[in-house]
Amino acid sequence: MTNKQLTHLRSFIEARIEAIEASLAEDDPESKPVAPDVAIGRLSRLESMQSQQMNLAQQRRQREERERLQNALDRIEKGIYGTCAYCLSPISYERLEAMPDAVVCMSCAR
Ligand SMILES: [Zn+2]
Repeated sequence: MTNKQLTHLRSFIEARIEAIEASLAEDDPESKPVAPDVAIGRLSRLESMQSQQMNLAQQRRQREERERLQNALDRIEKGIYGTCAYCLSPISYERLEAMPDAVVCMSCAR
């Protein structure tokens, strides 16, 4: 992987972390007042609870992704980014571009 590619991936990761943080801040239930029932419209109470559950699940996924991305930044700092954690061979740039938080190469992931 060239330095240019690494820089590109790094800014991609940083932008993704920022986007996740913005989305998490927006979804924070404590950051906005609880909508009164009328605001829910046609949604039943059950549906609104289900959608809340889905929101929570999505937030959890976003936090997990943010953590993986931050780990990726750590690995860039340590100079071990793009090296497979299992077989220590380089992870292809194409794979990292599609999945910048990948820690194992394509063959180890199978
Ligand atoms: Zn591997």
